[in-house]
Amino acid sequence: MKQNRRNFLKTSGLIAGSALLSGFVKKSFAKNIFANKNINTMNSGKMKLSFKPYTLELRHVFTVATNSRSTTPVVLTQIEYEGITGYGEASMPPYLGESHETVQAFLSKVDMSRYRNPFELEDILSDIDSIAPGNPAAKASVDIALHDLIGKLLNQTWYNIWGFNKDKTPNTSFTIGIDKADVVRQKTKEAAEYKVLKVKLGRDNDKEMIETIRSVSNTPITVDVNQGWKDKKYALDMINWLKEKNVLFVEQPMPKEMADDIAWLTEHSPLPIIGDEGVQRLKDVYKAKGIYSGINIKLMKSTGMREAHKMMTLARALGMKVMLGCMTETSCAISAASQLSPMVDWADLDGALLISNDVYDGTKIINGKVTPTDRPGLGIVKL
Ligand SMILES: [Mg+2]
Repeated sequence: MKQNRRNFLKTSGLIAGSALLSGFVKKSFAKNIFANKNINTMNSGKMKLSFKPYTLELRHVFTVATNSRSTTPVVLTQIEYEGITGYGEASMPPYLGESHETVQAFLSKVDMSRYRNPFELEDILSDIDSIAPGNPAAKASVDIALHDLIGKLLNQTWYNIWGFNKDKTPNTSFTIGIDKADVVRQKTKEAAEYKVLKVKLGRDNDKEMIETIRSVSNTPITVDVNQGWKDKKYALDMINWLKEKNVLFVEQPMPKEMADDIAWLTEHSPLPIIGDEGVQRLKDVYKAKGIYSGINIKLMKSTGMREAHKMMTLARALGMKVMLGCMTETSCAISAASQLSPMVDWADLDGALLISNDVYDGTKIINGKVTPTDRPGLGIVKL
């Protein structure tokens, strides 16, 4: 009887164990079958692109050297394929020339049903690029949705697909716009969680802005002049002064057209000079060597994740610094950019923190650090 009981327990234990094991195997098997099903039927489905305009509400009126605003127009895209949906986004700060109208007009010309295999990114994205020149945000909205779709089909994040270590994501800077001293002090105090502050300069109160922040915080600062300084000697004096204020680098100090003056400035500057407005796409990276110390890559300039990845690789090969930036964007485009972030020197991915009506949950900023989710694709879900 005793023996029987022991045998019974042993047997039932085995059964329970094998049930557990088979459950595990079934689960992994099902996962593989699911993934393989999609790969095997890749040539049978059609992709369908849809899009809708949306307006982001900014938490604070945002002022840079050239303009102020309280909203940003975006277009939210999705690509459906075999019952799976990839999400994308175009963000169009008005000074860059794209709008709800231009993006929708461009996307109306994109026929995704021509393609049977979403993995053929080189062919698909080069076709889309050739529809019309310019339109980088519109192009990015397709690229991002395709990347999300592919990640979901493979059941992998993009940082995994690209081979990046998620633990190496950088801290993001948090942007303090140009404002009155009391507002700047308040915003700086509210930003205590962030390990780097980004300050917009290029008006007539540059030193006052920095000194106001320094009156309440010793957090390292990065400076973005948005082409606001017109004289290279003045720019160098300012940069020498900024270096003493624990500033890490200076973004786009002078108009992009003044390449010779910027090159001189970079040569003499004690801080790295990063090109933003002066570096849009892959073809600009090679030209940027010798003018800037590094480049600011943004998905809305680069036409999306694929070209951004290439820009990063080329800049690294040229020995240049790499910064990853953003526009005001939902967590869709921010999560897309964050997939690249383990490989950059500096990140400015605060775009979704600046808005009050996000539509996705995705990459978070935790204690100042860019923190992507483990979900496949971009790692986002609709709110
Ligand atoms: Mg900039």
